Amino acid sequence: MSKVQHEQVIIIGSGPAGLTAGIYAARADLNPLILEGNQPGGQLTITTEVENYPGFEDGIQGPELMEIFRKQAQRFGAKTQFEHVTRVDFSSRPYQVWVSDKQYSADSIIISTGATAKWLGLESEKRLQGYGVSACATCDGFFFRGKNVIVVGGGDSAMEEATFLTKFADKVYIVHRRSEFRASKIMEQRGVANTKIEFILNATITEILGDPGAKGVTGVILKDTQTGETREMPIDGVFMGIGHKPNTELFTDFLPTNEAGYLITKPDSTATDIPGVFACGDVRDHVYRQAITAAGNGCMAAIEAERWLAENIAE
Ligand code: NAP
Repeated sequence: MSKVQHEQVIIIGSGPAGLTAGIYAARADLNPLILEGNQPGGQLTITTEVENYPGFEDGIQGPELMEIFRKQAQRFGAKTQFEHVTRVDFSSRPYQVWVSDKQYSADSIIISTGATAKWLGLESEKRLQGYGVSACATCDGFFFRGKNVIVVGGGDSAMEEATFLTKFADKVYIVHRRSEFRASKIMEQRGVANTKIEFILNATITEILGDPGAKGVTGVILKDTQTGETREMPIDGVFMGIGHKPNTELFTDFLPTNEAGYLITKPDSTATDIPGVFACGDVRDHVYRQAITAAGNGCMAAIEAERWLAENIAE
């Protein structure tokens, strides 16, 4: 049997929430272990310019910002491991965490697993992922130089992705299922003002056409949401910008979620129903979903974990 590594605090996830929890927990001398997951740094590592993070008046690239967070946490003694948690057991203390067959235990857990991009749920979308279908313009935009692409969605993500893609693509079509946008005014105006962006409103994609083996994506079938009419449109790539879903799969046997699938925490707190288990950032926040709110929430989780440990776990 392999030895179980025990920690005072394990932080699961390494976006702004997890790394901020790491900074505060490390400074509280809790020697936290951050299990970073498959996407260290979280969603900001697949964004471009972050213009609204306070303290960076000229903006900063998402991956660079997260690297600064990580180094800051490490400076105070947080341990960061590029490991993806596969199972947890919160039924008794100490709590158990597995990374495949490697086992950890912890007096306290901070969940900061964030959220992941949503997909339309089409079979053709799955088949053509990586062959012209993507949910990350930053990662894949480069491949569409001189091409025509679609971005699906009407929120800030869709506007941001579309604007970014105009650096490469000749034409970017935003396909949105309604005629009003969910995006903030400033992002919407940026999209409207961009001559390379064209809007296709009241439309959804019912099928993505193409062949992974040959040319990849070649077109889509669009359906008018008002008339029900369908038409084929040639296109070289399709980017999803339709929002995110919280990464809660590991925890739903132990912790309740709300109707949108987000972990539930106590009012004005990151405490969950399980003593010593805290949740922060996008995994519990379907309202604000900003790096700065996630970071603030991570700070709360670490302070609450520190207080809970002091009151409940003997040194
Ligand atoms: P969002 O605000 O939830 O918008 C999702 C969009 O996708 C909506 O327009 C929605 O249509 C559409 N959609 C959802 N499911 C769909 C489906 N199955 N088929 C077709 N369309 C679908 O998500 P988001 O844009 O990712 O933004 C999330 C949060 O992050 C927001 O608070 C946003 O302000 C923030 N954010 C900020 C920035 C920035 O400031 N730089 C960038 C990105 C995100 P309906 O409108 O009809 O529901």
